[in-house]
Amino acid sequence: MGWFDRWASLPLDFALPRHCAGCGDILERQGFFCASCWQQLDHLPDTGCTLCTTPMDLPGMICAPCLSAPPEHDGVLAAVAYGDVSRDLALRLKYGRKLGLARVMAQLMASRAAAFPEALLVPVPLHRWRLWSRGFNQALVIARAIEAQTGQSVSPDMLRRQKRTAPLGHLTPNARRKEVAGAFALAAGARQQLSGRHVFLVDDVYTTGATTNACARLLKKAGAASVRVLCWSRALRDKS
Ligand SMILES: [Zn+2]
Ligand SMILES: [Zn+2]
Repeated sequence: MGWFDRWASLPLDFALPRHCAGCGDILERQGFFCASCWQQLDHLPDTGCTLCTTPMDLPGMICAPCLSAPPEHDGVLAAVAYGDVSRDLALRLKYGRKLGLARVMAQLMASRAAAFPEALLVPVPLHRWRLWSRGFNQALVIARAIEAQTGQSVSPDMLRRQKRTAPLGHLTPNARRKEVAGAFALAAGARQQLSGRHVFLVDDVYTTGATTNACARLLKKAGAASVRVLCWSRALRDKS
């Protein structure tokens, strides 16, 4: 049994009283968040742009960025919008090594994943140098926590990051595409596993879409029926 399985098999309420995953206050009721942090989380509606699920006023519409450059994936399913509380959770998981927070995220992501119960969970990979310095891939930890809740299976090594990429935040959409070009590769035998399967590409935060587009392109070329991005939070103001 690995460390993750040991951790994941602990009973849910093994350490009462529980603390809010956002601010650390003691919780008096069941749940992961206090009322204040829960309110600060921007829960996204199920409907939105037909292609990328960006919230829109009317159902069945396509947002302007998708009209000008349709994404390679089939939609983004995010639990919450990027904000103070959701960013803090993602940072504490990644840099504070609070791996238990993955279970909190997975709990809110699992309902988004329910539409495709047979989908394969594929974590966005880290480059091996970053994996070595951090010690874990947060996307894989989150994918394992979703697997524990939904029974959907994880394919941990389906994608490999074979090139280190610079931070994409400040690049133009074109420069982002160039930066991630050739950055990812598929595992040997990927075609057999992917043929006709629905895939959830799992990540903590969805920002520019360049990384997930590069991954989605590869997965679809290898025969995936659909590739949706399943993430904890997504930035809404970035229009690339
Ligand atoms: Zn709180
Ligand atoms: Zn869109």
